[in-house]
Amino acid sequence: ARILQVSSKVKSPWYSASPFSSSVPTVKLFIDGKFVESKSDKWIDIHNPATNEVIGRVPQATKAEMDAAIVSCKRAFPAWADTSILSRQQVLLRYQQLIKENLKEIAKLITLEQGKTLADAEGDVFRGLQVVEHACSVTSLMMGETMPSITKDMDLYSYRLPLGVCAGIAPFNFPAMIPLWMFPMAMVCGNTFLMKPSERVPGATILLAKLLQDSGAPDGTLNIIHGQHEAVNFICDHPDIKAISFVGSNQAGEYIFERGSRHGKRVQANMGAKNHGVVMPDANKENTLNQLVGAAFGAAGQRCMALSTAILVGEARKWLPELVERAKNLRVNAGDQPGADLGPLITPQAKERVCNLIDSGTKEGASILLDGRKIKVKGYENGNFVGPTIISNVKPNMTCYKEEIFGPVLVVLETETLDEAIQIVNNNPYGNGTAIFTTNGATARKYAHLVDVGQVGVNVPIPVPLPMFSFTGSRSSFRGDTNFYGKQGIQFYTQLKTITSQWKEEDATLSSPAVVMPT
Ligand code: NAD
Repeated sequence: ARILQVSSKVKSPWYSASPFSSSVPTVKLFIDGKFVESKSDKWIDIHNPATNEVIGRVPQATKAEMDAAIVSCKRAFPAWADTSILSRQQVLLRYQQLIKENLKEIAKLITLEQGKTLADAEGDVFRGLQVVEHACSVTSLMMGETMPSITKDMDLYSYRLPLGVCAGIAPFNFPAMIPLWMFPMAMVCGNTFLMKPSERVPGATILLAKLLQDSGAPDGTLNIIHGQHEAVNFICDHPDIKAISFVGSNQAGEYIFERGSRHGKRVQANMGAKNHGVVMPDANKENTLNQLVGAAFGAAGQRCMALSTAILVGEARKWLPELVERAKNLRVNAGDQPGADLGPLITPQAKERVCNLIDSGTKEGASILLDGRKIKVKGYENGNFVGPTIISNVKPNMTCYKEEIFGPVLVVLETETLDEAIQIVNNNPYGNGTAIFTTNGATARKYAHLVDVGQVGVNVPIPVPLPMFSFTGSRSSFRGDTNFYGKQGIQFYTQLKTITSQWKEEDATLSSPAVVMPT
């Protein structure tokens, strides 16, 4: 009943009572403009991470359903690509308005399925909304180039054109933002899109599809399938899919990059991370400790840009006890409870993995200064909660340093100098994000220039670029050559056609065949 109350404004096509015997609601597929019940015999339970109650079931789409989705995307493409750019822009302008009007409803659904706090879930929708707003600038973003009079009577110009059918595969941790990095950008360029949301949090994508339909997107321009490996393989292999956008773990990302590329597709894959916050002793202590705690433990550390590793340089190591005090004060609770700072992890398996990584720290000689493993949340005893955890005396060869923990765990290293800190960060294989905290401009500049990480914050703990720029994680955090959103996103979803055109006056006709290469 809680689920069906989620939205007061839009009707709920994403869940409805199951046609099967149980009363567990099912998530629909979105095929050719209709929210349809899957005929699959393979279903996955969706749990509320704060209680582990089953709140719904999502199908693993059948081959016939996935085929129908592609046929629909393919059929819709020519007319959508041919729709004037101003009309496509109008759809997105209406869409950003509808997302704003329904932001709180989408956020409630995210909290229910994913567990993050309501305020954080609103941020999830908001950051995706900003990409939709930026996509509304398509009329200038998609412009080609021109060069008149390259020789007598001859002009050269290029168009940016859509690719055809594109596809997206999303992770569980940002149920709204990450799908919104994908299909609005692709579709505004004139592509049609096949989306596969994370099977753990499919609801927000279905609600976003309903809002897009209400904004005037024609049937077939967006189709949604659900599932796991079979759906992923289908996307990687299908000859009608021209490009794949993936966000998620390295294990899945490397696989999808290679399998998709082997089938001749463009693939962009944003993957895992280990983000370091370097704390200089001259930093503003109050701000730095608050920012570090917020960025390490917010969203229970389940962000690819979580600041999960602190490097305290020189005298900054003395701030450790205060860091622990601040982390201790965070309130762990179900995401819909007032005052919650962080919610549960996504699954019991995720909790177990995080606890094992904390154990490995103890076994390998680190010290646990704050231990969240035994936390009990009143009224939510079955939830997947781990409280804020701080591990100090960590060395780069320890498992808790090498692995992406993806939980509310901050590992702390210490160095004497900035140079040593830079060396540690550059030796780590990931290059998603990093931050330096300092009041010295020269120190900040040196760090920003020498660190080999794609997104750098100076006194900014989570430097995710706004959508007029692109999300530029590097090294092991990214495979591909064109990033998500911004100008790079437009490039990813378009191809160039270059036209060389000659219009001579009638009396300037060629008198004989031009057999020599034109120069
Ligand atoms: P995940 O890789 O388990 O799942 C992502 C998607 O891939 C899902 O749709 C899933 O169905 C599919 N998938 C899962 N395992 C697969 C496999 N073995 N083969 C093929 N497909 C598979 O990731 P997740 O747990 O949902 O998300 C967390 C991960 O995503 C973290 O590593 C995090 O750092 C990363 N992430 C990265 C960014 C970024 O922009 N760099 C953003 C968010 C999350």
